[in-house]
Amino acid sequence: MGDGKGAIVEPEITLSPEVQEVLADVIAIRREIHAHPELGYQEVRTAALVAERLQAMGLSVQTGVAETGVVGLLEGGQPGPVVMLRADMDALPIQELTGYPYASQVPGVMHACGHDGHTAALLGAAQVLSAMREQLAGSVKFVFQPAEESRAGAERMVQEGVLQAPRVDAAFGLHLWNSMSLGTVGVTTGPAMAATDYFEIIIRGRGGHAASPHQAVDPVLAAAHFLVTVQSIISRSRDPLAPAVFSIGCIRGGDAGNVIPDEVLLRGTLRTLSQENRTLLLKRIEEVLHGTTQALGATYDYDHRPGYPVLVNDAAMADLAREVAAAVVGKEGVLSPEPTMGGEDMAYYLQEVPGCYLWVGSANPSEEAYPHHNARFNMDERAIGIAVEILVRLARRYLA
Ligand SMILES: [Zn+2]
Ligand SMILES: [Zn+2]
Repeated sequence: MGDGKGAIVEPEITLSPEVQEVLADVIAIRREIHAHPELGYQEVRTAALVAERLQAMGLSVQTGVAETGVVGLLEGGQPGPVVMLRADMDALPIQELTGYPYASQVPGVMHACGHDGHTAALLGAAQVLSAMREQLAGSVKFVFQPAEESRAGAERMVQEGVLQAPRVDAAFGLHLWNSMSLGTVGVTTGPAMAATDYFEIIIRGRGGHAASPHQAVDPVLAAAHFLVTVQSIISRSRDPLAPAVFSIGCIRGGDAGNVIPDEVLLRGTLRTLSQENRTLLLKRIEEVLHGTTQALGATYDYDHRPGYPVLVNDAAMADLAREVAAAVVGKEGVLSPEPTMGGEDMAYYLQEVPGCYLWVGSANPSEEAYPHHNARFNMDERAIGIAVEILVRLARRYLA
């Protein structure tokens, strides 16, 4: 090494013998899925693999839920509540550059968020839990959903009744997370991830010669005024103690320096951590748009597309998750991260039933960890074992 920093401390991870036994198989499944990634609502091959595995474990299996979703039900030896464990199966439109022997064989598609690991880990947990079926007082519903990446697979799973028949009492899910090192687990109580809203705005003026602006209506100037003024909703309309961010990521209009164009297009996103704040700021955005365009004689089209709701972890379930995580990575390994302004469709389940969504650190301690959605994304596969152990323990602990 020769960097003078001394040896890298490897984390202490406690895996039960049952989990250790399935681990090699789980990693093989992860690599198999990694090599054959599929985009949202196209997870046909992955869903077939999942369904076949669940059937082989003797679970009752439902396929074609929300197009490509798969649900397996494990009924324990004794009656009791129903706990749901969830994984997402979709990949991203990215050309993989890792060079792994199990790298994507599909051009332009890659498991760059770790959902291959989520799917494999949940199959591993199903394997372990089905072997201890007789000891379980209650049922475990294994939910493999499509299209987490901005296409709201979870919302459709809920609409198609995944939380019913039998009714789910609590739901858990996790994300392997490269922003945290291997051997750490993050659990946030309460609002943990943001509500996401997307906008497409067209500001319409009347085109003309740049030298005769009085004969035109300038949408560029109106867009500029809107762009600057709309940020005041964050500084003036929002409660300073309530996190929110509004970003315009795209502005497009005009082609020539001496021409006033007819229109300008803007695209952006609002992120909030409470429904109250979300409703207020959505209203303010349109008010500012209306006021700034009207003042300059322009008009507008306003297209608002709601994204995911706020993800809220139930306090009791978050405590349970911390207790479970501590048994696997030790008390020091359990962190309570601040909420993030990213969105996650697990929120759709958690607005219906209590539960918790956890972060499982997956950055290798001795090599550079590339971020999620990067073409070189490289999780430490030992995190998948931690994920299996946590899922198994969450179900057992909840049903105990
Ligand atoms: Zn992602
Ligand atoms: Zn993800």
